[in-house]
Amino acid sequence: MRKRLVAGNWKMNGSRAANKALLEAIVSGIAGDAEVECTVCAPYPYLAEVAEALQGTFVSWGAQNVSEHAQGAYTGEVSAPMLAEFGCRYVIVGHSERRQQYGETDTEVALKFCAVQANAMTPILCVGESLEDREAGRTEATVGRQLAAVLGKAGIAAFAGAVIAYEPVWAIGTGRTASPEQAQAVHAFLRARVLPETRVLYGGSVKVANAAAMFAMPDVDGGLIGGASLAADEFLGILRAARRKG
Ligand code: PEP
Repeated sequence: MRKRLVAGNWKMNGSRAANKALLEAIVSGIAGDAEVECTVCAPYPYLAEVAEALQGTFVSWGAQNVSEHAQGAYTGEVSAPMLAEFGCRYVIVGHSERRQQYGETDTEVALKFCAVQANAMTPILCVGESLEDREAGRTEATVGRQLAAVLGKAGIAAFAGAVIAYEPVWAIGTGRTASPEQAQAVHAFLRARVLPETRVLYGGSVKVANAAAMFAMPDVDGGLIGGASLAADEFLGILRAARRKG
């Protein structure tokens, strides 16, 4: 059985004081669970402090982006070896905000995915279609192309230890969620192209109110949570919804 993963993406939010309060609340509200794993992906400057706050807890930490290069003249970039040196567990690659606002290409995302794995961390590969793509019937073509770029570079075996996050762009930060059936259809499409053990998360306006229905879908293995990961009660509620009952 695939262990569920609930990953918080703080995006460019937080402060030292707010992070401390949020992490304390999450850590005190979470119990070890053999079936659900929890991670938080914080902005770069806070990572070392987040790592310290989470040491010895049930929560791991990750980054939101990484350079495809290992070192050198890349001003402003952060490399995978640097993240690994601090004990980073997960790295989000190819988030739609990076694809759209910073022009990240499928090829760059694939190189980032490989850099993360080469440094013994786990990539969370984001794929997802725009509203225009969905309405034109191009959802599978879009996520299929984004996934194929990584498969072509990393190979299928790399997906044994990787995580995919299906995030329809029209559902991110908009309050509009894909229906569980819409998500399941895309997750099944993705799963058929990777390995049975590859975890496929759903992301896009997940909150307590819709999490349980989403996680009840057979190919939804957890969530990548943006806005709701900044409120401890909401994030803990989503984690509880990820628990399998019975
Ligand atoms: C995200 O940033 O990956 C995300 C899913 O955001 P939100 O939950 O706010 O839609």
